[in-house]
Amino acid sequence: MRKPVIAANWKMHKNRDEALEYVESFLPLVRDIATVEIILAPPYTALESLSEALHGTNIRLCAQNVFFEEEGAFTGEISAAMLNNLNCTHVIVGHSERRQYFGETDETVNNRLIVALKHGLNPIFCIGETLAQREAGKTQEVVETQVRNGLKGFEASDIGQLIIAYEPVWAIGTGKTATTEQAQTVHAMIRALLGELYSEKISDIIRIQYGGSVKPSNAGELLASPDIDGALVGGAGLKPESFAEIVQAGR
Ligand code: PEP
Repeated sequence: MRKPVIAANWKMHKNRDEALEYVESFLPLVRDIATVEIILAPPYTALESLSEALHGTNIRLCAQNVFFEEEGAFTGEISAAMLNNLNCTHVIVGHSERRQYFGETDETVNNRLIVALKHGLNPIFCIGETLAQREAGKTQEVVETQVRNGLKGFEASDIGQLIIAYEPVWAIGTGKTATTEQAQTVHAMIRALLGELYSEKISDIIRIQYGGSVKPSNAGELLASPDIDGALVGGAGLKPESFAEIVQAGR
């Protein structure tokens, strides 16, 4: 049985004070939930404060990216060891906004996954097709290529902690959610691919989140699908009440 994993990606929203106010409201709403892994991914500038505020709670701390070198002259970048030092347990890797606006490729995503796993961070590895690719009937090919390239060089023993987030790019921040059937079809395909690349055991344990306009009104149906093991939430994760409702839907 895979434990549902529900994460809020705040992107470039909330300063440190706003992040702390959010946690103060959010904690009492989810304090008793042990059956869902709950994750918050604030901007880097709020990681340290949230590290303290979330200490001893049932909420895990996630960074929105990590650089693939250990240290050095890389202005503006953050290393995996720095995230470890702030008690981050998770890191988002390969989000479509990083691929679209910051030149991330399958190769740099692979490098980031390597460094994250080496440092014991649980990566949330994002993949998904654009609208043009879906309309051209290329969803399966695109997603399969992203999985194969992103996981290049990994053995089954390396990836037990990996979380995959299937996020159709056309559904992110647009209010257009994939139908439950569309999402389930791709999730089942990804799971079958993991079985082919690794083993049935790996395909059974790796959790696959859906992301793309998840909100309280659609979370229950999506999360009830057999291969949808959680959600990566953008807009609806910015308000403690709506994110708590999504977490409740995963119970
Ligand atoms: C995301 O950014 O990962 C995301 C899914 O955003 P939204 O929920 O706003 O579509």
